[in-house]
Amino acid sequence: MLIGGTIALAVVALAIAIVIFVRIPRRNGLSQIGLLFVLEAVYAFGYALELMSETELTKVLSNRVQYLAIPFLSTIWLIIAIRFKTPSYHFSLKKHYAFLVVPLLVFFAAQLSYFTSMDWYYKSFDIDNSLSIDNFGLAILIIEKGFLYFVNAVYNVILVLIVTGMYAKIFIKSSGIQKKQSFAMMFCSAITAVATIPIFLTTHTLGIDLSLYLYVILGYIILYATVNYEVFDLAPLAHRATFEHSTDPMLLLDDRFEIVSWNQAIQSLQSRPLLYRMPLKRYIRDDEVYSAIFLKQTSTFFIKEKRYIVETVDLKTKRGRINGYLLKFNDMTAYLEKIERLDFDASHDALTKLLNRRAFFERVDRYFQSAFRSQESFAVMMIDIDDFKLVNDTHGHLVGDLLLEDLSNILYRNLPDNAIFSRYGGEEFVGLLPQVSLEEALRLSDIARIAVENRWFVYGEIKIQIQVSIGVSHGMVDGNQDIMNHIYQADMGMYQAKKNGKNCVMTASSIQN
Ligand code: GH3
Ligand code: MG
Ligand code: MG
Repeated sequence: MLIGGTIALAVVALAIAIVIFVRIPRRNGLSQIGLLFVLEAVYAFGYALELMSETELTKVLSNRVQYLAIPFLSTIWLIIAIRFKTPSYHFSLKKHYAFLVVPLLVFFAAQLSYFTSMDWYYKSFDIDNSLSIDNFGLAILIIEKGFLYFVNAVYNVILVLIVTGMYAKIFIKSSGIQKKQSFAMMFCSAITAVATIPIFLTTHTLGIDLSLYLYVILGYIILYATVNYEVFDLAPLAHRATFEHSTDPMLLLDDRFEIVSWNQAIQSLQSRPLLYRMPLKRYIRDDEVYSAIFLKQTSTFFIKEKRYIVETVDLKTKRGRINGYLLKFNDMTAYLEKIERLDFDASHDALTKLLNRRAFFERVDRYFQSAFRSQESFAVMMIDIDDFKLVNDTHGHLVGDLLLEDLSNILYRNLPDNAIFSRYGGEEFVGLLPQVSLEEALRLSDIARIAVENRWFVYGEIKIQIQVSIGVSHGMVDGNQDIMNHIYQADMGMYQAKKNGKNCVMTASSIQN
């Protein structure tokens, strides 16, 4: 029974190690515990062989199997403790080789004893065939301990005491689950330290090796303390909290698109009440949105003045079968508003809110490309405020700015909707009128001019009347048009208007007239 139990221990320990390595990836802290279980499996397997075998030679051979693992157990304990204290701690052979000196000496001395004259670890071997009740009626290998045996015991006690101290320190400082974990670990280490004491009292090993069973039990306690809480309790709690407390509305659907769960944030999505097992179609009534979700396309849409990007995430079983879906409504309102604001700021003048010069050229380019086939005619107008310097000089720059803002508005409102109109710089404006004849352009420009002329600009006590001079140039969209040349021509027309007494509309060709 003892043999069967010991073999079972080995198999279970190996299975646990495999589970840790294969099934719980991304958890570095656990690989040391996995290694601990591998060592325990080797130890238990070797010990089961030792108990089973009859002759001295086979017993010694199986003892050698155990010593593939035993020397390194306490080192692994230390590593687990260091990792528990500082999860990011990086081990390297170069830095920590000193910890391996005693384990490696023990490893080689134990492997060489019996077969060579090396007697550092074991001095002599004997078999106790008394089949006593203490030994469960089994023949037991009795070994005389060498000096290294005691050195190793001292080394192990020191390591285990260091480990106990480390857990005690964490226990004192920490709270909550870490306090419980560190207490369990401290307790285990302390027991191990105490259990090592009998080693010093005898010159020969005694009967059944109980330390194997102690190690296995302690291994399970360590595993329970670290893994149980973190993997099986904490991770699902974290997943749930991420779902429940997300500011993005989320819906959980089964494989037939029926709603089975939702989070608090869903209230911000729509006021329509949600019912368990309600078909999604009844909740999302917008056909376009529904079909985007159904087809698992990422789509953007408006609900209650908020803009969402909805994502459909497949929830698959380990075998890849789709069990349901997570619908995530990412609230993009603030983000999109910010982008639009940045976009507006980059293309508009801060004072007048008209297009800036760069945006004007971009739009004109786009217009030229789109109108290229129709070969339509267009006009460019250059507008300059008359005697604006006088406004600044008389009423100050602040009033000048206010006037500039209001006047921009009047010009803008009195031009056709399809005009591309911008602040060219200072108190000068440039506009492109698509699809107009020269006569039409002159007439439209005059409407804008008269609108300004007829307006009283009032700022508190101050009342101002002001005029503008406008130059116009006309052309065809034929692939050869040059906007800079048209602007130059319009500028010449404006210059002509100034020369002509201001407050009028002229073309460059008026110069020759
Ligand atoms: P003209 O009829 O010949 O155009 O006379 P003007 O005084 O308007 O002369 P000009 O066009 O050369 O002068 C432009 C003036 O516009 C100079 C500058 O003080 C003023 N100005 C340009 N940009 C701004 C602005 O953003 N705010 C204010 N308040 N004034 C501006
Ligand atoms: Mg000017
Ligand atoms: Mg001016």
